[in-house]
Amino acid sequence: MKKIFILSITCLFAAYTFAQEELIRCGNSIHQEALQATYPDFTENVNAKFDEAITAIAQPEYKSNNVVYNVPVVIHVVYKNSSENLTDAQIQSQMDILNADYRNINPDGNQVPNLFGNLVSDAEIEFCLATVDPNGNSTSGITRTQTNVSSFSISQDNIKSTTAGGKSPWDTDRYLNIWIGEITGGVLGYATPPGTPTARDGVVIGYTYFGTNGTATFPYNKGRTCTHEIGHYLGLRHIWGDGNCGVDDGISDTPLQESQYGGCPAFGSPSTFSCGSQDMFMNFMDYTDDRCMFMFTHEQVGLMRYVLENYRPGLVQNASVACDPTGGAGCRDLTEGLITMGFEDGENFGGWSVLNNNDDSREWTVYEQDPNNTDYGPHTGANCIVYTWSVSAAADDWFFTPCFEVQDNREYELSFWYASAEDEFMAYPENLRLVVSSEPSPNAILGECYSEVTGCEELGNIMQPYDPNLPDKNYKNFTIALPDYDVTDIYIGFHCYSDADQYAMLIDDIEIIDITAVSNENAIAPEAFQTYPNPASEQLTMDFNFDKTIENLQVNLVDLAGKIIHTETWENYIAGNLQLDVSAYPSGVYFLNVQADEQMTTRKVVVSK
Ligand SMILES: [Zn+2]
Repeated sequence: MKKIFILSITCLFAAYTFAQEELIRCGNSIHQEALQATYPDFTENVNAKFDEAITAIAQPEYKSNNVVYNVPVVIHVVYKNSSENLTDAQIQSQMDILNADYRNINPDGNQVPNLFGNLVSDAEIEFCLATVDPNGNSTSGITRTQTNVSSFSISQDNIKSTTAGGKSPWDTDRYLNIWIGEITGGVLGYATPPGTPTARDGVVIGYTYFGTNGTATFPYNKGRTCTHEIGHYLGLRHIWGDGNCGVDDGISDTPLQESQYGGCPAFGSPSTFSCGSQDMFMNFMDYTDDRCMFMFTHEQVGLMRYVLENYRPGLVQNASVACDPTGGAGCRDLTEGLITMGFEDGENFGGWSVLNNNDDSREWTVYEQDPNNTDYGPHTGANCIVYTWSVSAAADDWFFTPCFEVQDNREYELSFWYASAEDEFMAYPENLRLVVSSEPSPNAILGECYSEVTGCEELGNIMQPYDPNLPDKNYKNFTIALPDYDVTDIYIGFHCYSDADQYAMLIDDIEIIDITAVSNENAIAPEAFQTYPNPASEQLTMDFNFDKTIENLQVNLVDLAGKIIHTETWENYIAGNLQLDVSAYPSGVYFLNVQADEQMTTRKVVVSK
């Protein structure tokens, strides 16, 4: 008893000490003082652009183009310790937040008070991880730089300089540069307004305030630090104007506000009233906790779009190449490799899309395995894609594969694994339908495979309850040859439809393969080669069972980029187990390319640590 008592005192003390660190929600004023000291005309330039933009959007004839703008983003992860080297999944979680917040589809948007309900606006801005770098080479849109700098000063901005231990920006006219690292002084993030010198232009976010998983830390674990900072990058000021009631943010549909809010205030109390009106502290440009900010207004959106159109047009122009997974080259050519969508970190399935067709609060979402959730999880690896039910709205939700090119006289195969959530009464099925389309849209369907092709069926009610204790976790495989629709560029759409209040549907390990090359007599028969466990962390067992002696057996381990990273060979081999040590390789998807004299095959394997 005594021991426990001492332990709890220690814990209390630790929490108390931790709470003493003063966090700075946004470091812009500190940063702009430093910029002014280095660039004497900085403030003048920034204010001139701001004033011009505010005047322009106030004109009755001003109207932004009615199009969705895409912004190519490069994430520079600058880390000293491996814990600061954020995973691709954490980075993707931040991209998802941005693409919800700037499209007004953030699920918490329904918490905006009625008073401000008609002011909420869709910015029609989307962000992509760049697929093409400034030199025209393909990229994941993420750079990773190890540094010996423990913490980066906000005023010196060394995180933006390779020679100073950070990472120099990609062309700031064409890319939104976002640096992730440890920022000195408890600053969550900062960003530069239009008019900033190019060497310093972009957004910096502390590594514990980025995305929604991994190192993201409550109450700044909903990705809103980055939403807020990109608001600054696109010209917005703090909603209270960084002054009292006499200072405005330049935006006429945000109320005047005495000062910033923190935490998560209750709307409507006298304490959220200032300058003669209720305050809009749930705006992304206030200082409230991540879970308590939900909206931009019409005029904030107008300003951001004006900034993109007039001060940062190179971003939108570059998007046609750098936001296109093929780098502007058109759809993927499968003769150069299959499309794999295991939804894992590091996989290259860029260009896929999600469509929330009935615009409700639910859509297909990449799901990262939670060991506490035994109702659903991935087939292999750490991730799958899940549609979770809405209590009130029927499911009408799509996701589409990347575009790929089909050529005459070649055969293509689609394979994927599906399951439903564990449902002991088998009473809450979601329905699944597959389509082939010429655009990632239900309006461009070429054919629904079940009605067009022999051996291909509408999947309908899915009664395939996930069970982590069964082989393949009770996921079921579905494989079809793709029909020929006489077009060259196609997408596969997965449509989940059902009544409201059903359960969850899971899809994983989608592969679209050009089988022309492998459907010949030289393929190793499936029963002659098994590999397990998959995913593997240390040793991968390859179980061969040939019907004749193989003189030369060679196994290549190939990464997603197609590079052979390990080769082993054996001679005069018939059957038995061989081990491949994969412990040195980072988690991700690989291929085992097996050549057994004149026979060959390729298998996907997942390394998971
Ligand atoms: Zn700010």
